[in-house]
Amino acid sequence: MLLSEFAGNDKVTTELSESMKNDILPHTIIIEGEKGTGKQTLANMISQYCVCLSEDRKPCGICQGCMKAQKKIHPDIVVVNGENSAEVSVDSIRNIRASAYIKANEAPNKVFVLQNCNKMLAPAQNAFLKVLEEPPENVVFVMTVSSASNLLQTVRSRARIFSLYPVSSEEALLAVKRQMPEKSDEEIRQAVSESEGNIGTAMVLLNSGTDEIMQLVEQIYAAIFLSSEYQLLVLTSMLAKNRSFAVNAADLLTEIAAEAVKASLGLKVKSKAAADAAKRIPQNRLIHIQNQLQKARSVLNTNINLNFFCTWLCSALRS
Ligand SMILES: [Zn+2]
Repeated sequence: MLLSEFAGNDKVTTELSESMKNDILPHTIIIEGEKGTGKQTLANMISQYCVCLSEDRKPCGICQGCMKAQKKIHPDIVVVNGENSAEVSVDSIRNIRASAYIKANEAPNKVFVLQNCNKMLAPAQNAFLKVLEEPPENVVFVMTVSSASNLLQTVRSRARIFSLYPVSSEEALLAVKRQMPEKSDEEIRQAVSESEGNIGTAMVLLNSGTDEIMQLVEQIYAAIFLSSEYQLLVLTSMLAKNRSFAVNAADLLTEIAAEAVKASLGLKVKSKAAADAAKRIPQNRLIHIQNQLQKARSVLNTNINLNFFCTWLCSALRS
């Protein structure tokens, strides 16, 4: 991914690409922003720039350095994750300090990425400050943090701070589409609107428990044919979790229903719930369920309240 492809945040990308072009990247960079705004993506781009071997446009994306950076196997990119406060500890800072004064193995620069510095304790920050005060040559430090105010003023004052924000829905749509081309426009639009322009959150929503959804829809499909309605009501009410979850589930349910009809014609299908139903349920009933599910899917394109949708779905499938 190129800096020009980074969604929104024009102020940040313009300044960064200017300093990359003029080879004047700051020694220490703090990237702040809420979860999902692209801090790590930006840190990866900066790392790649630092190890790129190209003579002109960096990062070129194709040299040995860029390739290794993309595969996360570059020996001159050191990543420390501070998700548990213990990780960016005084000890790990000491290791960084020792390693920072040793020349890079193969790249023009060495990069240290300190992720999730939210809980970095004052002693560790003070230890880090000593390196920042006399930064070794050809070393770049990148810190990611939800808010730079979590860091000591003395650390902040030594760094260039880049602030990332959620982007417009159009920008988020394009960015998610590029990274998840297998998802439908409708699913992406839902996820982006729920995440209010936070690309990372939208992608988590879209990925959220593919297995979980699959299991649930198989259970729902089987429950349609049980004698008691109660089980189906309990299961369909779980779709009220969020809209993209419901859309995903309705798509999958429609697929299973189509498979059941196929199976009833003697064709081979993947879904176990579909194959089971085809053995026991008359074909006209399977076709009716398929039609009801297609209707349900289009109902989700309207502004229907999700709780209401779940109850409606249950009775539509029992009718
Ligand atoms: Zn390169």
